[in-house]
Amino acid sequence: MNQHKTTTNKRFHDFIIIGTGASGSVLAHYLSSAGADVCLLEAGKHYRPDQFPPDELHANTELMWNGGIDPSTDARTVFLRGKVAGGGTIINNCLLDRFDDIALDDFRNQSGIDFYNRTTMDKHYQEVENHLNLEYIPESDWNGNAHLYAQGFDKLGLKRAALRRGQKGCCNNENDCLVCLGGCPRESKQSMAVSFLPSALAKGAVLKDQFHVQQIIHGHGHVSVFGIHKGEQQALHARKCILAAGSLGSTGLLLNSGFGDRLPALGHGFHCHPQFMTIALMNDNVDSHKGAFQALKSDDMRFRKQGFKLENVFAGPAGVALLKSGFGASHQQFMAEYRKMACIEVAVRDEVPGTIKVNNSGRLVIDKPLSDIDRQRAEAGKRQVRDIFHAVNARKIMESPLCIALHLMGGCNIGQQAANSVVNEGFHVHGFDNLAIADGSIYPMAPGINPSLTIMAQSHRASQSLLAEFGQSISESSPLSFVQNTEKEAVQS
Ligand SMILES: Cc1cc2nc3c(=O)[nH]c(=O)nc-3n(C[C@H](O)[C@H](O)[C@H](O)COP(=O)(O)OP(=O)(O)OC[C@H]3O[C@@H](n4cnc5c(N)ncnc54)[C@H](O)[C@@H]3O)c2cc1C
Repeated sequence: MNQHKTTTNKRFHDFIIIGTGASGSVLAHYLSSAGADVCLLEAGKHYRPDQFPPDELHANTELMWNGGIDPSTDARTVFLRGKVAGGGTIINNCLLDRFDDIALDDFRNQSGIDFYNRTTMDKHYQEVENHLNLEYIPESDWNGNAHLYAQGFDKLGLKRAALRRGQKGCCNNENDCLVCLGGCPRESKQSMAVSFLPSALAKGAVLKDQFHVQQIIHGHGHVSVFGIHKGEQQALHARKCILAAGSLGSTGLLLNSGFGDRLPALGHGFHCHPQFMTIALMNDNVDSHKGAFQALKSDDMRFRKQGFKLENVFAGPAGVALLKSGFGASHQQFMAEYRKMACIEVAVRDEVPGTIKVNNSGRLVIDKPLSDIDRQRAEAGKRQVRDIFHAVNARKIMESPLCIALHLMGGCNIGQQAANSVVNEGFHVHGFDNLAIADGSIYPMAPGINPSLTIMAQSHRASQSLLAEFGQSISESSPLSFVQNTEKEAVQS
């Protein structure tokens, strides 16, 4: 850090938000709508929809941390997370589910935090859903993979349901929706890039992309944030700083800033919904890469109670190639049958948490071995998948050994006591009034349900709570003149 000259920005913001994903963009929207001076910092680039990388390999390297291959310490699990303005919502499939009562009750019991209840959370869900276009993909737009999934479920008498997706009328058999995972060029997927982020910017929030935050210092009445912006060391200051850097990002940043000494729970309670893909080779072309590549999910209470769910899913050729072990002729033969592949994924509701640490060079060390109970859940799910593929006359079934983790949660869990949690009911870091977090890192456990809608909903709640502290309430229609001190003195650093 010392070889660069530090530029100190004279402006003193009301809020600095680190990260622009499901949490950061929602927070920025509501805070700037109420008139607050908001500065968003994002390590990744801000892309226009027509600028997203053209193919899978470029998307992995340009839109994800470490090219999308962050491994666990035992190198058996790969963690994927977005590094781009819009965060994970740019590279995800935008399946937007509310938590069921099981997840809400478990969250409340585990954390002791009362707002995880149906009545309260439904208000926050409704509020954020008002800003998104949500659709179920009609049967007429299912691709071959979805049809096989439905046939297998129906033959075995298993309950299935349509997935709810944030999109605007794009997924049909004319379009190749796999490109969505590299950023949606059609502006259909309801990522932060087409929803909360542009509206926050329109309300006056400032975005500094390619700003890698390295350290946070909590002062009296303010927070100072240090990082590298496009190659230049910068220091910024605000009355409050909100970490919205995701489970790994927010936890890593607090650890690297020395907060671990005062927060014993920091880095503990890390969850990830371990996912396993099974590929079936069919006799005829399935063309799973065409049309909506995800449309259906399991809706069987037995699966929910057993701790897993099944989704119909697929991946681009580079992703599919990684799923199969081996090389040479057998691997080539396998890939040559890309058009004949059907695929179902098992996602486990993981019970035993892992830990996030940083090493001496500040790099993340993620310890998340698969526990016996998680392994049993995965096996139970894979057995169901085998039965489903046998029921639709699959010619060959290949279970991938790779464990993929897309839903990264915990590390700064919410709770009542500083001894066993990091963030309190008002979203403040225990003992640090000017630091708040509402992203996936505050989850007290795994929900077993797609996490991002609840991250948005709890971020809406956090924005209300933060505004109430400043004596303001949200009024999007008539923004308040929020503070009189945007010309405050710069903090000397
Ligand atoms: C391939 C894939 C598919 C998925 N599909 C779904 C789905 O269909 N439905 C669903 O609900 N969830 C899905 N998810 C998960 C979902 O995207 C995440 O749960 C969600 O985006 C997490 O929100 P967040 O705000 O906690 O963090 P993120 O959205 O990850 O945002 C964090 C942001 O902070 C930035 N950041 C981190 N560290 C720093 C730093 N030091 N300085 C500056 N910026 C920093 C990151 O670059 C990132 O942009 C998927 C994820 C992946 C990877």
